[in-house]
Formats: sequence, C-alpha cells, structure tokens
Amino acid sequence: MAEIDTPNTPNVTPVRKPKTKYKEKPREEFSRQQNYCCAICRHILTSSAAALVKDGNHFHDRVNPDGRRFLIACFREAPGCQISGHPVMANSWFDGYYWSFALCANCSCQVGWHYTGDEEFYGLMIEQIVDCQTGSAG
Ligand SMILES: [Zn+2]
Repeated sequence: MAEIDTPNTPNVTPVRKPKTKYKEKPREEFSRQQNYCCAICRHILTSSAAALVKDGNHFHDRVNPDGRRFLIACFREAPGCQISGHPVMANSWFDGYYWSFALCANCSCQVGWHYTGDEEFYGLMIEQIVDCQTGSAG
C-alpha cells in the first residue's frame, strides 16, 4: 500500500514559521499576543491583547485641525504610556470623549492620545508603534 505519511502531507493548517525559535514560549502564544513597542526606544507600550474596537473599528484614519493625517489603533490600556496634559473635548476624534496626550513613558515622545469618556482607551499612532518581535510597524 502507498505510504501516505510523507513530509509533504501536512496534518495541521500551515502557519508561517518564525525565523528564530522561541524556547521560552510556545508559538501559539506569540500568534495570540503581540507586544507593541515605542518606535524610537523600543519600550513596550501595549499588546494585541488590549486591542479595542471603537466605533466599529480597531484602526481609525483621522485628520487634525491642521490637516495632518493620522492612522491610529485603539487599545483598552497601554501600561507603557504616560498621560500628559489636561483632558480637552475640543476637536476630539471620538464623540463625547476628552483627549490628552499619550507619551512613551521611557523616552517621552508622543505615541498617540488617551481618551476619557464613558470608558478610557488609547489611540496610538501606527507610525509610532512597532511589533516588538519583528520591529515592523504595528
Ligand atoms: Zn520611547
């Protein structure tokens, strides 16, 4: 009878293999949760486990009053951020929410905004956060 147990017969759904082997944690854990770091200093800001869908989307494409465009991603929490400034309602990108600045707690560069209203969340700039494992844009 024909041998069916060949290397070309995968018994699991193929997944993209990481380039390096992680000895501490199983691969599933990395696919479940990604940490996002400051693009400047690599301080860990938040993780995919804290990703939040706000107004129907995780990502939001917004333009500020100066005409500058920002792509932000929403997170329930960002323990690596430091909130700066008094919360203001003017020009808020989210109805009913006050915003203040969210800075990297390590290097103090601005990584996004912190919102307070019915709930609290962060809107972090995609260009300011990177995947801690790959270094690619979050
Ligand atoms: Zn930083």
